Amino acid sequence: MSTPRSAIIIGGGIIGLCSAYYLVQSGWEVTILDKGNLADNCSSGNAGMIVPSHFIPLAAPGMVAKGIRWMFNSKSPFYVKPSLNPKLISWGLQFIKHANDKQVNKVAPHLRDLHLLSKLLYRELAAEPQLNFGFEDKGILMLYKTAKAGVEEIHVAKQAQQLGLDVDVLNYSQVQSLEPHTELNIKGAVHYRCDAHIYPNALVTQLTAYLKAKGVNIQTNCTVTNFTAGNNHIDSVNTSSGNFSADLVVMTGGAWMPELAKKAGMNIPVMPGKGYSFMVDNADKKIVHPSLLLEARVAITPMNGKVRIGGTMEIAPVNSKINMNRVQGIVNAVPDYYPDYQVKLPQVKDVWYGFRPCSPDGLPYIGYSEKWSNLIVAGGHGMMGLGLAPATGKLVAELASQSALSTGISAFDPNRFN
Ligand SMILES: Cc1cc2nc3c(=O)[nH]c(=O)nc-3n(C[C@H](O)[C@H](O)[C@H](O)COP(=O)(O)OP(=O)(O)OC[C@H]3O[C@@H](n4cnc5c(N)ncnc54)[C@H](O)[C@@H]3O)c2cc1C
Repeated sequence: MSTPRSAIIIGGGIIGLCSAYYLVQSGWEVTILDKGNLADNCSSGNAGMIVPSHFIPLAAPGMVAKGIRWMFNSKSPFYVKPSLNPKLISWGLQFIKHANDKQVNKVAPHLRDLHLLSKLLYRELAAEPQLNFGFEDKGILMLYKTAKAGVEEIHVAKQAQQLGLDVDVLNYSQVQSLEPHTELNIKGAVHYRCDAHIYPNALVTQLTAYLKAKGVNIQTNCTVTNFTAGNNHIDSVNTSSGNFSADLVVMTGGAWMPELAKKAGMNIPVMPGKGYSFMVDNADKKIVHPSLLLEARVAITPMNGKVRIGGTMEIAPVNSKINMNRVQGIVNAVPDYYPDYQVKLPQVKDVWYGFRPCSPDGLPYIGYSEKWSNLIVAGGHGMMGLGLAPATGKLVAELASQSALSTGISAFDPNRFN
C-alpha cells in the first residue's frame, strides 16, 4: 500500500470543504486551517442556488453602465464604494476590460461545463446517507415585471438554449400555475430548469461533521500569517497556532485570497462583494420555486421550511457595517413581485452578511500556481461559489492526484493576472 499524501487546505468555506471531501476520497490526509469557526464565512447564509443559468460572468456588457447608475441610489442592488484604493482601481479597470461580448462568448461554454459538472456532483453528494441538505432539482424562475427586462432575459434564455441548457420561456399564467399558492405580480419569467437549490447551512455543518469523521484535522481560529518556502516549493504554512507542513497546499480563502496570495508572492485579484440575507416564514402563501427578481436583483429561496431573501452587491473592502438602507431596498422589492409577502424590515441581529469573492473577470481561479510547484489555488467564484464548489473540489483533487480532469480549466488559470 502506498503512503497517503498530505494536504493543507487554507480556508474552510464551501470551496475548502469540497476540496477536502474529494481529496479524502482520493486517499489524501487533509488538514483544514481557518481563521474563523467555519460558520462566519460566505458559505452558509447565501441563497443556496446551483446555477448553470449563470454562464455569463458578472463582468458582462451593460454592467458598467448599470453600476454607475446604481452608485447614486442608497437602496440599489449593486454598489461600488468610490475610492482611490489602488487595488479597487486596478480591479475596476480589469472588470471594464473584460465586460464585452467577445470575452463573454469565449468563456460561456467553460462556465457552463463547470456548472453542469457541479450540479451532477451535487446530485451524488445528496445521495450520501450522512448528507441531507435539502437538494431540490426544480429549477429557478427569473421573474420580470418590465418589457425591457423581459427582452434582455429572453435573449439570455436563447443563448442558454443554444448552449444546450434546459430552459423555458413562460408567460404570466404559466408562471402563476407553477406557483399556485401565492399571487405573482409579474409580466413573465424564464424558467431555468437546469438550476437547483439547497439549504447551504445544512451542507456546511454536515460536510464539516462528515470530514471530521473521516479523520480530517480541522483547525479553527487558526490564521495563516505567512509561508516558509524555497526552491519553488512551499515548505510550511505559518499560522497563529504554529507551523504546518504537507506535500500539497490548497489556497482557498474567499474574499481574503489576495492577502494570502500576496504572502506567497502572487497577485490574485479579488474584491469582496458584500451581500445580505434574512429568513421569513413561508406561511400558507407558500413559494414553491426559488426565484431571482430581475429588476431588483433579489434572490428568493424556499429552504428549511422558510424562505431566504437575499441580495445586494457592495464592492468595497471587508467591513462589518450593516447598511440597513440596502436591506430596506431588498425588503421593498419582495411585495412588488409577491404581493402576499409584505415583508417587515428585519432587526439588525437577524441580518446575515457575507463577502462574495469577486474576481475582476467574473471567473474563478482553479489550478496550480506557476510560482510554487505544490500550491493549488481555488477561489474567486463571486456569486456562484456555492453552486460551483463540488466541481472545484473535484478538480482540486484531480489536479493533486495528477488524474484526468473532469472538465477543462484553461479559462480559470490562477496565474492570468500575473
Ligand atoms: C447574499 C449572497 C447570496 C449568495 N447566493 C449564492 C447562490 O445562490 N449560489 C451560489 O453559488 N453562490 C452564492 N453566493 C456566493 C457564495 O456564497 C460564495 O461564492 C462562496 O460562499 C465562496 O466560498 P469560499 O469558500 O470561496 O469563501 P468563504 O466561504 O468566504 O470561505 C473562505 C474562508 O477562508 C478563511 N480564511 C481567509 N483568510 C484566511 C487566513 N489568512 N487564514 C485562515 N483562514 C482564512 C475564512 O475564514 C473563510 O472561512 C452568495 C453570496 C452572498 C453574499
